[in-house]
Amino acid sequence: MLERGAESAKRGAADLLLRGQRIERLLRHGKQLAIVGDGGGVLCVQLGMTGRVVVRSEAPRGEPHVHARWELLGPRGERKVMTFADPRRFGGLTALASSTVLSARWAELGPDAATVETAHLMQALKETRRAVKAALLDQNLVAGIGNIYADEALFRAGITPRVLAHRLRPRQVERLAAAVREVLAAAIASGGSSLRDYVDANGQQGGYQTLHLVYGREGEPCHTCGTRLRGTRLGGRQTVWCPCCQSARDT
Ligand SMILES: [Zn+2]
Repeated sequence: MLERGAESAKRGAADLLLRGQRIERLLRHGKQLAIVGDGGGVLCVQLGMTGRVVVRSEAPRGEPHVHARWELLGPRGERKVMTFADPRRFGGLTALASSTVLSARWAELGPDAATVETAHLMQALKETRRAVKAALLDQNLVAGIGNIYADEALFRAGITPRVLAHRLRPRQVERLAAAVREVLAAAIASGGSSLRDYVDANGQQGGYQTLHLVYGREGEPCHTCGTRLRGTRLGGRQTVWCPCCQSARDT
């Protein structure tokens, strides 16, 4: 039960919409989380790159980058505090009147990357003239792939990040779709990637950063072939790949 809501920076609609409501469901699509109240209201949290929602029995005082804070009552009446923090400020909070509004909003995004099908990815990549890495980061094509996971998926699929998306062969796209699903499933299972201070909803650090094969490893030897990994900026984002294991052509 949300007892008091959003009392700091974002006081307003989000507060009025969910106060006194029981949290009925939590939904996720790509990098967005939806908290659905039993009165029909929805709080949509855009997690973006560094946004996080944490529920604890007590929030530490003076915690940096906290933009909103809610008081919750647990099933046995225990008090908890939920905070939304976002150091890089790419995220945000939006109050929506109903699940129907949420569905319409999410329909504008691409399908969720964790379950993306080859056919959809094929269609989406065919329609863009960008480099495949940039296309993967576009949340309107596929929702939920960030910079780390784009690099990791391209490495596993053996595709160089600079190849133009519409030039990929069906077999490459099939490998890429499988790699995206695998990388995200593994990352979710290990609690995500903690690069600086990322924590999950229970305040725990992720463990996936120890499993990165290319991201953050520019200049280091490829785990598969020993070649030095290359790094560049692509679409404004740091990109790392193996010039030997990843190619533009189908192999
Ligand atoms: Zn290699």
